[in-house]
Amino acid sequence: MGDGKDGILKGQRALVTGASSGIGKAIAAALAEAGASVAVNFRAGGDKANAVVDEIRGRGGDAIALQADVGSEYEVHEMFLQMIKHYGSIDILVNNAGVQKDAPFHEMTIEQWNEAISVDLTGQFLCSREAVREFMRRGMVPELSSALGKIICISSVHDTIPWAGHANYAAAKGGVKMFMKTIAQELAPLKIRVNAVSPGAIKTEINKSVWDTSEGLKGLLDLIPYGRIGEVEDVARAVVWLASDDSDYITGDVLYVDGGMMLYPEFRTGG
Ligand code: NAD
Repeated sequence: MGDGKDGILKGQRALVTGASSGIGKAIAAALAEAGASVAVNFRAGGDKANAVVDEIRGRGGDAIALQADVGSEYEVHEMFLQMIKHYGSIDILVNNAGVQKDAPFHEMTIEQWNEAISVDLTGQFLCSREAVREFMRRGMVPELSSALGKIICISSVHDTIPWAGHANYAAAKGGVKMFMKTIAQELAPLKIRVNAVSPGAIKTEINKSVWDTSEGLKGLLDLIPYGRIGEVEDVARAVVWLASDDSDYITGDVLYVDGGMMLYPEFRTGG
């Protein structure tokens, strides 16, 4: 793999949650390409996570797979113990794991509500808290990074755009945005940077039902001024940058990777 992307993350240790598929898998690969050692978290289906690890190792990178449900305090704690045992510490956390449990509001069950909040919001709290505790224990390593640690929260354009039929998901992602900004404010004096990447429509399993039909794809493209659906690598490149010292003065920000979806495209021809 050479020094990949100038090896801007060389020697750093990253954990990516929900990294056995989609955006998380691409983020894990991109971080490894940039020189980081990567822990690939998964909840179930170790085969897929091991395949991601094998792919990274096949390109000369360093990775391990770690199982945990990010919504479980106990499992998250155990995962961080394993991460620290294996790699010594953690420098970069990417809170990527997410689920959609969609339903018309009046039919939404408490199980659907709780599952989305548990994975999409509580999971980000639990993993961030463990990471911050370890950043503080470890202390500064100036030769690795000018920050004590970096946290990147994967949110969504639906941290801002309301989304009918997805009240639980939108509530969780809106929560992620203020959670991220608040801990960024609290932790900046410690030199911990916390930012979010909010994707628009990215081609993964989570939204396959939408882009898989020509009608669905057309409806989606109407919402994207840049005229194409996003690829997982679009998000991964933004995450690598936010994890690196190239973005050292940036904290508490949301970077929308959305081909302009946040630009109210319905107003292009009227309003
Ligand atoms: P995906 O379904 O491929 O990825 C989600 C991953 O999270 C899966 O690997 C899944 O197994 C894992 N996961 C689910 N529950 C978990 C748990 N409790 N513990 C650990 N892992 C768990 O879909 P994706 O599109 O790659 O989504 C990744 C992130 O990007 C999510 O947070 C999603 O909300 C966000 N996002 C995606 C899009 C898009 O268009 N694809 C848009 C905006 C935001």
